[in-house]
Amino acid sequence: MDKGRRIGAVILAGGQGKRMNSPVQKQYMMLAGKPVITYALEAFSCPEIDEIVLVVGAGEQEYVKKEILNPFGPFQVKAITEGGRERYHSVYEGLKALSSCEYVLIHDGARPLVSTDIIRRVIRGAVEYEACAAGMPAKDTIKVLDREGFAVETPDRSFLWQIQTPQGFSYPLIRKAYDQIMGDEACQSGITDDAMIVEKWTSRRVKMIEGSYENLKVTTPEDLVFAEALLQRRGEI
Ligand code: C5P
Repeated sequence: MDKGRRIGAVILAGGQGKRMNSPVQKQYMMLAGKPVITYALEAFSCPEIDEIVLVVGAGEQEYVKKEILNPFGPFQVKAITEGGRERYHSVYEGLKALSSCEYVLIHDGARPLVSTDIIRRVIRGAVEYEACAAGMPAKDTIKVLDREGFAVETPDRSFLWQIQTPQGFSYPLIRKAYDQIMGDEACQSGITDDAMIVEKWTSRRVKMIEGSYENLKVTTPEDLVFAEALLQRRGEI
């Protein structure tokens, strides 16, 4: 599928994971005998992806090579680069380290349950729409709060999706949007994903692509328990 086009992946492992309350960052914690990050690296080391850039925290390159890539690989990692203070700084470093790709998938290394099917759907979405993001319809009612913690609005749930990664883009489109916002600090507040950069700073619409309720982000300690149960159900451990 879609071969002939060069497709890169930026996998993010540059966060501190403060919500995990652990000295080890969430992407390096062990999940069923392997570091969390290795699951995403395995999923993206597939024929559809030509190169992976792994973004890690400051000073972590050697640790990651020695403790993760060598013992648990091989993976299609072409480069390891240092991230930055916020997620979007890390993404930008990853984008700059990719070599001549037409499309790029950006993925949180803390989402170990991403599947080949999701990766394929996001590649198709990127090629067809130039900008897309995996997600799933919100299961819960979502409320908007005021600063005192009172509900001020209940948006119609049928139009609400919870957004995941991977998110897929035409490389020139996302690179240009990032170049623009990185050059202007006033544009950088409240950026939590890549799709919103395209929404806000380009005229391109972002297509939502079906992800999976299993594609959770390991954020708080109980997520490791859920992830392990899901891997077991899939027969992967
Ligand atoms: O903190 P959050 O859950 O949004 O992080 C999502 C992903 O982005 C994680 O895989 C994390 O390692 C990565 N990240 C990063 N650089 C940062 C912050 C987060 O690579 N400065």
